[in-house]
Amino acid sequence: MQSKKILVTGGAGFLGSHLCERLLEHGNEVLCVDNLFTGTKANIAHLLSHPRFEFMRHDVTFPLYVEIDEIYNLACPASPVHYQFDPVQTTKTSVMGAINMLGLAKRTKAKILQASTSEVYGDPEIHPQIESYRGSVNPIGIRACYDEGKRCAETLFFDYQRQHNLNIKVMRIFNTYGPRMHPNDGRVVSNFIIQALKGEDISIYGEGKQTRSFCYVDDLINGMIKLMNSPDGFYGPVNIGNPKEFTILELAQLVIELTQSKSKITFHPLPEDDPKQRQPDITLAKQELQWQPTIELKEGLSKTIEYFKDFV
Ligand code: NAD
Ligand code: UDP
Ligand code: UDP
Repeated sequence: MQSKKILVTGGAGFLGSHLCERLLEHGNEVLCVDNLFTGTKANIAHLLSHPRFEFMRHDVTFPLYVEIDEIYNLACPASPVHYQFDPVQTTKTSVMGAINMLGLAKRTKAKILQASTSEVYGDPEIHPQIESYRGSVNPIGIRACYDEGKRCAETLFFDYQRQHNLNIKVMRIFNTYGPRMHPNDGRVVSNFIIQALKGEDISIYGEGKQTRSFCYVDDLINGMIKLMNSPDGFYGPVNIGNPKEFTILELAQLVIELTQSKSKITFHPLPEDDPKQRQPDITLAKQELQWQPTIELKEGLSKTIEYFKDFV
């Protein structure tokens, strides 16, 4: 296989570090760019001595001049706790980051993939969500810096494609979990696992009837690389996620069972604009990428629990 020079923005984060690892395994040169806001050097410590790996501390809201063949644009805090910490910076990262990376792709004629999100569907009125659904997002709510930033980034990708003939790929990622999730980012999977391992109460927001579908990180990275390598002219957007839907209460019960914890479930107020349900329709990914997830929640949770044992 021919070695490519690949830029991964947000490469020191949860998904980015797994992606860098996999791209190196495939024989590529990887330039990991990250401002280390939510990502850590620990996530990529095992890659730093690799001869085909390079780390650069850089904020994507500023221009970047490097020579590359492909760009995976993942830079952006992904959890509400972190993206709401400095919401203006979150929008800047999505929008100005996209402009800079698209400008870079235009100059270098690189293929470019955007890590978009199921949050572009907002609190969806149709279920499961298909790519043609335009979403229901509150433009002035506390999630808007993330949701609208990501929506605008998609607009920029498609305009650069139409206006400058860029080779783009847009991926809408649904809830993903696995080792190297940030332990303090308040995501439901990491929260429940850490609470269960510590024997603390499991904090369900609302009644736990809201649903999510959880994709294990290895499945997600397979889908991401398949999309990048899909035929020219297929731009997406394409949903990548696990269509198997669980209520948050079911997730809590499963985590308690797998950790054999004595933790009790407690109920707390639901955060503002919290989507009631979310489930990807992955018909398009199956058709165009021959991709579907293979790792069951139980198996993926067990691997994630092993990882978090070092944090408690
Ligand atoms: P993460 O927070 O672990 O990774 C994001 C990385 O981007 C971090 O390393 C962070 O330091 C870096 N970053 C943030 N702002 C930056 C900036 N201005 N310049 C350079 N680097 C910057 O989150 P993740 O879960 O790995 O998410 C990666 C991407 O996937 C994000 O774009 C996110 O929106 C998207 N996504 C993730 C999920 C999920 O379930 N994990 C779901 C939907 C979409
Ligand atoms: N850019 C960059 N690296 C490059 C080329 C461009 O970071 O190799 C940035 C540049 O700062 C510019 C943005 O990408 O603001 C958009 O570039 P484009 O060529 O589309 O627009 P223009 O330069 O005309 O603003
Ligand atoms: N949630 C919960 N307890 C927690 C953390 C989250 O009940 O300790 C709920 C949250 O309200 C949401 C769901 O779990 O309904 C998924 O939350 P997460 O932040 O992981 O992802 P997102 O809302 O972005 O899908």
